[in-house]
Amino acid sequence: MLQTQSQKPSNQLPLIHTVDEDDQLLLNSPDAQWYRILKYFPDMDYRQVAADYYNSLYHFNKIRTMHRGDQHVNDEDKQQATQRLLFERATMNDSTPIIFEQDSIPAIEQIVTPRQIAPGITPDRVGGKKPKCFFAMFKSFSGASIMGFAPEPEDVHKLLTSNLSFARVCGLVPKDTDANYWYKYVPSLRKLEQFDQIMTEYGLWSKAKWDHVRENVHSKIIHKENELVGDTTHYHGHSVFKTIEYTDSKGKEKKKSQSKTTKKCQCEDVTNCPHPWELADTGAGTIVKAHNRYIWGHKASILGLPLQGIPLDAVAVSDSATHDGETIFPHVVRLFENLPQVHPWIDTVLYDGAADAQGLKEKFDKDLNIRLRASLNPRRTKSVSINLPRGMEKITPYGNLICEAGFEMDYKGMRYESEKFIYHAPLDESGCSVCLGCDQKSICCRLSKKGRVVTLSFSMLPHIDPKDPPMAKRFKAMMTHRPSVERMIKRLKCDLSDDRLKKRGNAAFQAYLDKTMIAFHILLRQ
Ligand SMILES: [Zn+2]
Repeated sequence: MLQTQSQKPSNQLPLIHTVDEDDQLLLNSPDAQWYRILKYFPDMDYRQVAADYYNSLYHFNKIRTMHRGDQHVNDEDKQQATQRLLFERATMNDSTPIIFEQDSIPAIEQIVTPRQIAPGITPDRVGGKKPKCFFAMFKSFSGASIMGFAPEPEDVHKLLTSNLSFARVCGLVPKDTDANYWYKYVPSLRKLEQFDQIMTEYGLWSKAKWDHVRENVHSKIIHKENELVGDTTHYHGHSVFKTIEYTDSKGKEKKKSQSKTTKKCQCEDVTNCPHPWELADTGAGTIVKAHNRYIWGHKASILGLPLQGIPLDAVAVSDSATHDGETIFPHVVRLFENLPQVHPWIDTVLYDGAADAQGLKEKFDKDLNIRLRASLNPRRTKSVSINLPRGMEKITPYGNLICEAGFEMDYKGMRYESEKFIYHAPLDESGCSVCLGCDQKSICCRLSKKGRVVTLSFSMLPHIDPKDPPMAKRFKAMMTHRPSVERMIKRLKCDLSDDRLKKRGNAAFQAYLDKTMIAFHILLRQ
């Protein structure tokens, strides 16, 4: 932080001169980590995003004036629109991307450069009032998340107006009653909403997120690991669903839940006005959880490094009704596009049973040269209990072999030439084979002095990949890394935000994920 001081424009004055005793107490309090993070925030690292924000703000204001009175043509009725929107969803249409892609961002004029701005120094050329300071608002949103609140305008506004130390450390001055506009006053809720909207629509939350992750990789705060772990998680939607009936390609009547068909305009006669019909909450869908629990909400896919427990990306799934196994491949591709320096690290991706499909494993191998290791999906197979070697009771779906005396045999390896898996009877505490004292010995391995050895042909376990059998120690050891993703999800969803969304649509959901990821990666630097 000290090095960056010298880069500040020389005309910058400290924002606040008074030293409050409360603030001093917070600075020294072990419980107020958020205060120290915001106090020593490396503002200068954010000057590029800040310049992008001011330029986007001009563009946003210009577009808004230009588009007034724009004429659309729309002769679709609400019911037709509902069917069109249904068949555009990723679960209904193969050409719709599985994971969320931001709308393309228009080319914007570069009026403000990073060198012209700093905390408390906002650009002059606005053709009116000075805009609110980017740094103050960015810190307010990140600070809210670091403190465990949802990084959304309402929560940020509540914090700024109720916690004076928070407002001050963000670089804002509490507003006097009846005071006129001053760019240093705590922004109104409307201004915070506008800031959030611009950061979202112009992809700036996402840019700041990737900048953070890249910087943490570059500065070796994140260390190299050879595995990636992935999973999906749900957030509760801020909308309601309707059940839509439709006819599928085979002429069958079907039903699917979808958010309401609506218009974003404020026209009095929405039925006949020319504006397009849209989904009230794009991306929301029915998510099926274990034990037939259904959740209406948004789904996110998370990818991270299991040993350090660091999420590298969280992305909105285009249609939350999408099956989990479909999201992992496009998400890994997206990760490497944005974080190419991590691609050479990775040789294995760990996932749950949803990704246990041969075609998917081959795709990972062929297109990315990465091994996909998925927990076996036990629903797909049953235990085998017929045609077994003598003395053996069953083979579980996971390839574990159990004998008539109830011992689980130790998997030892395979003979690839003769296509056989090899198992030995386990040893007891004294290091002798359990067979030696077993009452089944006479029918199982009467003459053996070292205990039973069993070979099973690959064809008895057709669902198991002999190149990577799940009963091998290596496989088991690696799969113990997989639950690490649960902890990452808990951090993002519970500690740094809230799993009940307050906004609708995938763009807002993606921004929400990006904001929590920014907070996570700021905390990582502490
Ligand atoms: Zn309208």
